[in-house]
Amino acid sequence: MPHSYDDQNIFAKILRGEIPNDTVLETEHSLAFNDIQPQAPVHVLVIPKGPYVCYDHFAQTASDAEILDYTRAIGEVCKLKGVEDDGFRLISNAGEAGVQEVPHLHVHILGGRPLGRMLQKA
Ligand code: AMP
Repeated sequence: MPHSYDDQNIFAKILRGEIPNDTVLETEHSLAFNDIQPQAPVHVLVIPKGPYVCYDHFAQTASDAEILDYTRAIGEVCKLKGVEDDGFRLISNAGEAGVQEVPHLHVHILGGRPLGRMLQKA
C-alpha cells in the first residue's frame, strides 16, 4: 500500500512550531523530544523532519543523508539519556496491526527501568 502523509498529524505540527515540545536533541534532519505520556523513566521519541509515515516508508524513500542523520540521532539520544550501560528498547509502531497512533515516523527510546518482555498478547 502506498504511504500517504497527513500533514495535520501532531508531530507535523510540532515540526512546524505550532505546538510545543520538550526537545532532547535537534539535528539537521531529526528531532528528539520527551514523550508526553512517558511509559518509563526515559521515554524519548525521535522523528525525522521529513514527511515519512512509518519506518518502512522512511527506509525505502528517505535520502542517505536523512537516514544517516536519523540513525546517529537515535544513538546520540541514548548517550544523552544515559541508557547505554543498563540497556533500553527501541520501538517503532506502524499501521493498524502495530497500533500506530501518530502517522509520522517515530522511534520510541525506552529505558531507565527493567522493561519486561517485548510483547503482550493482543
Ligand atoms: P504510537 O502509538 O507509537 O503512534 O505513539 C505515539 C506517542 O506519541 C505516544 O507515546 C504519545 O504519548 C506520544 N505523543 C502524542 N502527542 C504528543 C506530544 N504532543 N508530545 C509528545 N509526545 C506525544
